[in-house]
Amino acid sequence: MERLTKKLEPRVNRRGDDRPRKRSRRTGGPPVAVRTRSLREPAACERCFAVYLNKTWRAAGTERRVPADVTWTLCPACSQVAEQEYFGRVRVLRTLEQEREAEVRRRIWNVERRARATQPERRLVQLGRTSGKLEVLTTSQKLGHRIARELEKAFGGRSHYVWSERDGLLEAEWDPEGQARDATPRARRHARPKAAR
Ligand SMILES: [Zn+2]
Repeated sequence: MERLTKKLEPRVNRRGDDRPRKRSRRTGGPPVAVRTRSLREPAACERCFAVYLNKTWRAAGTERRVPADVTWTLCPACSQVAEQEYFGRVRVLRTLEQEREAEVRRRIWNVERRARATQPERRLVQLGRTSGKLEVLTTSQKLGHRIARELEKAFGGRSHYVWSERDGLLEAEWDPEGQARDATPRARRHARPKAAR
């Protein structure tokens, strides 16, 4: 008993605070696979009503219907949000004025809404401020990347990305005043039509 207790590693989140933490890959494989490996089908998420069937999570429809005889659980994304685990972080490098910040927040939520409609695993974990600057935490690298790219496209400036192989984290930064990608002498910025969204 004593030996067993000593062998247990301290939990990553025992830091005496409830700040979000990134999840390490020590568990092996992506969190979705780990969490749903032994789940009895059909299952549904008790928070967001996503349905798990044929080894796939699907977002709830507007009527939030679930199959008969369902196993209620928390879907991987809702678990990550509850535990404040993230695989993507997007930092805005400047303090935005109030109106612009509201626009940026709306845009970020829009990106999330579109993403989670098809992939319920992609979710915001947190959208808040650190030292007056916006910081976004996401359940997946892909969503973090999409948000940073979208901010650059919608509001200008420049985003850059760092993927960490070791802990599976994407760190993105968006500088609203950074030099735009197409601001080179042979800029094609007038030739390229604005993406319809
Ligand atoms: Zn859920």
